Formats: sequence, C-alpha cells, structure tokens
Amino acid sequence: MTMQWNSPIHPEFTTTHGDTASINRVFCIAKNYAEHAREMGAEVDREAPFHFQKSFDAVVFGPTVRYPRQTTNLHHEVELVAVLGQGGDQLSLAEAEAAIYGYAVGIDFTRRDRQAEAKEKGRPWEIGKSFDDAAVLGVVTPKADCGLLAQGAITLDVNGERRQSGDLAQMAFQTVELIAYLSTLQTLKPGDVVFTGTPSGVGAVVAGDHFRAEIHGLTPLKFSLVSA
Ligand code: MN
Repeated sequence: MTMQWNSPIHPEFTTTHGDTASINRVFCIAKNYAEHAREMGAEVDREAPFHFQKSFDAVVFGPTVRYPRQTTNLHHEVELVAVLGQGGDQLSLAEAEAAIYGYAVGIDFTRRDRQAEAKEKGRPWEIGKSFDDAAVLGVVTPKADCGLLAQGAITLDVNGERRQSGDLAQMAFQTVELIAYLSTLQTLKPGDVVFTGTPSGVGAVVAGDHFRAEIHGLTPLKFSLVSA
C-alpha cells in the first residue's frame, strides 16, 4: 500500500531579477556579534559557532507577518541571510564562498520568554525559535550582483525609530566560515539558508508595528506585524 498525503509546500523566495526558488532548511547562528551576546548575558565563543534550526515553513516574506501564540515577549533580530545555490559536505572556505547564491535581509523572530524558560531548564531553544512566521526573508540579491558581503551597515527601524544598528564586519565568524562550519555537521543542499546572527539592540514588538530592515547593498525588507 502506498500512503499518500499532500507534500509540505516549501516557501519560495524571490530574487531581484524576479526568479523564484524553494527554501530548503533554515539554519540560524546564535551569538555572532559580541555586543548582542553581552546584552543576552553571554559571550561569543571564539572556538566555534553555535546554531539552531527553524522549520522551513516558518519562512514568510510579508507584507504582513502574524504575531505568534505562546508568547508575550516577541523579539526582533535583524540578520544577514545567505542563500545557498550549491550544497556540499565539509566545504573549504573557498567552496563555502562558491556555494553562496545570494543574500537577503532577514528577521529572526524569537519568543524570548519561551527561550529563557528553555535555557533555564537546559532544554533546546526550539520552542522559542521555530513557529509560524518566525523567519522573515526579504528579496534575494544574487552574489553575482552584490559580491561577497563581509562589511556594511545593518539596521532595523520599528515604526520609524532606530532599534538595531551594526556592521557586518562585527560578526565573530564571517558567513563563509559559518557555512563551512555547518558543512562539517551535515551535507548542505541548494536552498538551505543561513541566518548569520544579530547585532545588539534586540527588543520586544507588538501587533501593529511596522518594520524596515536594511543591509547596505541589499533590497530593504519592509513588513507589518499583525494579530493572528
Ligand atoms: Mn538570531
């Protein structure tokens, strides 16, 4: 007997050229900017990156994003997102660079209250990190157009007020190092995306808030948070 059900629908990102392709896995790097690590009461671990995953179906593109259940303290984290166009296993830094298709501005939404509970109990971060609309992704600019992004301003405004401001050069581990690291743990695949960590200034948001996230050289990400 063959069991049948509707296959999960992988969300499709759009490029600056109007092309589309499906998202595979969503890897997120934690504590990759020293000032953000400090505001969370931690330090960057210079020995190795640290990461978690969100489900692929947590990805959303706007223009509206739903405020999730099970939290009263939803936090924004603006991040550079690398989209892989090639996969690979145990990649060198040069191979990791070649694997990058392009970049987008992203928001890693976090149920901070649930993440804090998880940390306290020694549990995985998943309940705080993976939920409907937890990963907002902007339009993808091909690397062929913008080059390798290793420096440049990264900012987030909420309702016209600056909340986060940093520079990609402040990352403890650069994007190619993060991709090489992830490829030591599992085989990477085309459509995998990597959220590369957030600068300092994270904070709570509510339904009705309007977001504008920018990274120098990329298309700004604009959306509104709405009640589910
Ligand atoms: Mn994050």
